[in-house]
Amino acid sequence: MNGHAGGAGAQGPARDAATAAMAVKLEHATGIRPLLNVPLAKHTTMRVGGPADLMAVATDVASLAALVRFSRAAGLPCLVLGRGSDVVVADAGLRGLVILNRAEGARFDTERLMAEAGLPLARAATLAQHAGLSGLEFGLAIPGTVGGAVWANAGAHGSDVAAVLESVTVLRADGTEVVEPAAQLGLGYRDSRLKHSTGAGSAAPRVDERVQVGATGGVAEVVLSATFRLSRADPTTIKARLAEIHRWRQEHQPLSQPSAGSVFRNPPGDSAGRLIDACGLKGARSGGAQISEKHANFIVNAGGATAADIRRLAELARAEVGGRFGIDLAYEVQFIGDWSNWQQEVA
Ligand SMILES: Cc1cc2nc3c(=O)[nH]c(=O)nc-3n(C[C@H](O)[C@H](O)[C@H](O)COP(=O)(O)OP(=O)(O)OC[C@H]3O[C@@H](n4cnc5c(N)ncnc54)[C@H](O)[C@@H]3O)c2cc1C
Repeated sequence: MNGHAGGAGAQGPARDAATAAMAVKLEHATGIRPLLNVPLAKHTTMRVGGPADLMAVATDVASLAALVRFSRAAGLPCLVLGRGSDVVVADAGLRGLVILNRAEGARFDTERLMAEAGLPLARAATLAQHAGLSGLEFGLAIPGTVGGAVWANAGAHGSDVAAVLESVTVLRADGTEVVEPAAQLGLGYRDSRLKHSTGAGSAAPRVDERVQVGATGGVAEVVLSATFRLSRADPTTIKARLAEIHRWRQEHQPLSQPSAGSVFRNPPGDSAGRLIDACGLKGARSGGAQISEKHANFIVNAGGATAADIRRLAELARAEVGGRFGIDLAYEVQFIGDWSNWQQEVA
């Protein structure tokens, strides 16, 4: 590992030795023992992806910041992973360090929820309901963390993070921690400034400008925690809203199969799902990957899919929609890790 972020870098025993040496340094510096060669499939909702050279789990904000600072100082490519619900990790895996964010603290102060970045957004929604606070109900639909949700300005059911976010604590590329008001984060449709921030040591550079949505390294700017401004409401009314959202999702999304949610962004005034459906692609397969019969903008892992299967099918959908409607669909999901040889992989 020599800072060659997404690429292969050193191979075989040399790489293993460098990884082992880095693991020792990491543990010495942070007190956190990393794991080596960790398959990422089980840490993503798509359930595909090869190994990360190193993985360390952050259980609180201090360890999250310490791990990021260490990787920057050591020139070690690093990616902060929440619940892995917006990513497709390459079959070749990811060189460098994955920081699994499990900093899940939360507390209320009158009508505010202060949440650490690893708190699942769905849990934030139910905690707020119990506290009689409304505004985060849409979060029940989003199987990611607070940090990933801020990064994406995640949204559903007529709301989004921008509607309720007051401020975030960000660990900047220069190592400072700052509290920034939401207005400074450039939150737009599934977008934020964080998606476009780059910094030394980013884990997965833009291997393909057309495919990547912004930079994919988590170390340029990292969300450590967020404060949401909510409003008082009757817990029973909020509970009914959560139940309605739950029912709607079960009906409209293929939740029993692994996926990464919507593959493509909706083009202005249209829906990617409608366009893919109109191309007759519902049910289309590539290896173990399938365009969902329930929702054409979802690609599901129907069993034994590889990351290359997913990408091949997604590229097919893009080409078909482009050919038929002249619309160039942009990816919502991120393809991260080492994609340098994916087209050589056998379908
Ligand atoms: C079944 C399903 C349904 C979904 N429905 C919706 C929906 O309705 N609306 C919607 O908006 N999304 C939806 N998604 C997509 C996804 O859940 C969201 O984008 C979510 O916000 C991703 O959070 P995560 O923690 O899983 O991020 P990850 O996938 O772990 O990471 C995504 C990116 O965010 C970066 N990141 C993560 N944490 C941080 C941090 N603390 N600081 C800086 N960068 C960070 C990562 O480095 C990575 O680049 C759905 C996904 C699935 C699987």
